[in-house]
Amino acid sequence: MTRPVVTRFAPSPTGFLHIGGGRTALFNWLYARKHGGKMLLRIEDTDRQRSTQPAIDAILDGLKWLGIEWDGDTVYQFARAARHREVAEQLLAAGKAYRCYATAEELTAMRDKARAEGRSKLYDGSWRDRDPSEAPADMKPTIRLRAPLTGETVIEDQVQGRVVWQNENLDDLVLLRGDGTPTYMLAVVVDDHDMDVTHIIRGDDHLINAARQKQIYDAMGWELPVMAHIPLIHGPDGSKLSKRHGALGVDAYRAMGYLPAALRNYLVRLGWSHGDQEIFTTQEMIDAFDLGAIGRSAARFDFAKLESLNGHYIRQTDDQSLVTLLEDLLHYVPQGPAIAARLTDTTRAQLVQAMPGLKERAKTLLELLDNAGFIFADRPLAIDAKGQAVLTPETRALIGRLRTALEDVSPWSAATAEAAMRTFAEQAGLKLGAVAQPLRVALTGRTTSPGIFDVLAVLGREECLSRLADQAA
Ligand code: GLU
Repeated sequence: MTRPVVTRFAPSPTGFLHIGGGRTALFNWLYARKHGGKMLLRIEDTDRQRSTQPAIDAILDGLKWLGIEWDGDTVYQFARAARHREVAEQLLAAGKAYRCYATAEELTAMRDKARAEGRSKLYDGSWRDRDPSEAPADMKPTIRLRAPLTGETVIEDQVQGRVVWQNENLDDLVLLRGDGTPTYMLAVVVDDHDMDVTHIIRGDDHLINAARQKQIYDAMGWELPVMAHIPLIHGPDGSKLSKRHGALGVDAYRAMGYLPAALRNYLVRLGWSHGDQEIFTTQEMIDAFDLGAIGRSAARFDFAKLESLNGHYIRQTDDQSLVTLLEDLLHYVPQGPAIAARLTDTTRAQLVQAMPGLKERAKTLLELLDNAGFIFADRPLAIDAKGQAVLTPETRALIGRLRTALEDVSPWSAATAEAAMRTFAEQAGLKLGAVAQPLRVALTGRTTSPGIFDVLAVLGREECLSRLADQAA
């Protein structure tokens, strides 16, 4: 009987949820959902110096924001140390592991010698078959795996293909340190086994670990999960992903105004493809996802593509939901509190009303928020430098005359305000643009904004007339 699919995401909480980690989690989640299985979450917090609670919180928060839900309780690796020790003792009892009393100095000497001789195997195996009676009394040994000395360790990787290591090049790895703490390598294998993990999907920086881990599986007689090591994400120029190129925490993408659905869609296409399809609903991703279609070469991060996808998702999102997303964004951006203080029923309604115009031109929620700034501006408006250049004595006089013309508009709407402006421009012998630009500056403080008639309608009669009065000569 085939086992039900169980995948896992196993981040080390030494930093925030990195964009690469987000993709690994997504792939695991998609694979589990596609096969009606489970995705588990294991926090690998065995490095006590570097693991922090804020990092754990950021990982959980980042996954939730991305819409990746794991199944069951979160497993914390450190809490399982006793079980890891138990397995090491079991291997010891079965003769598949041994106590090693090599001192730090001896190990350094072995390493130096191996390096000088160009050998990748660093430990010389000196305690492998030595009589324990020779052990120094005052020293706590490490426990090492009695790994095979000859033959091959082979992983049939779903992405990398068949990967072969010569056992003569692999060290007898340490399972338990002298102080009794389990090593990462042992902990991962025991946890994956105990959690019934059937598929390990992770970055290919762990490929060499796979060989070592397989030796532990073999020693325990446990079934090796299916492995899929996915190429890491590189920068647009093919180099290692740098901060400037997108190597940021998922929280940074939230603060930059990306929608979770857009980021998910972007991440699924980073290293995986399905024909030439670019846009996927969540269900489409689940249905199409397949380990065989993950590429072997590193994916390149492309901010422009992410932005354009995000713009697509923004335009697809209904106006009310965008307002909710904007309100959420306020928690994560420096200008958030000032805008939050101005959120009222009136400004919320204005946002909804302005949204059709705003969402057409924004690639991120941050841009959208910025373009909506005119709604929250205090009078008299701060006018930016380009706007100042538009406000001359002549245009200020024009604003005064325009204000008088607009005073009679009733009822107030985009259409009636437009009609009044056109009549005004015609009578003044001016092009509409020559009237619209000073008007835009007076109403928004800037030379660019959503459509000016929409701005007029959104702000309403009283506010418009007051803002115009502020700038009129
Ligand atoms: N904790 C490891 C990491 O964050 C992942 C280990 C694994 O997936 O096996 O890189």
